[in-house]
Amino acid sequence: MDTPTHNQRCDFCAKKTIGMQILGCVAQEVCEDHAEKMLVEMKPGERKDWGECYFIRYGGEPNGGETK
Ligand SMILES: [Zn+2]
Repeated sequence: MDTPTHNQRCDFCAKKTIGMQILGCVAQEVCEDHAEKMLVEMKPGERKDWGECYFIRYGGEPNGGETK
């Protein structure tokens, strides 16, 4: 039985997540439509500390980096 990894869905819709945004004490996994503008403009793998907020852009592997 294989378990798909890195196949998370947006907290607001069913699209694939591009990253996580932590706003105060709330962590949200979001797609490009629901991400803050700052998160969308970040490079894959980038992390940004922004006062109360913290943004993590997920890495750029289209298939979660899994081969076979
Ligand atoms: Zn979404």
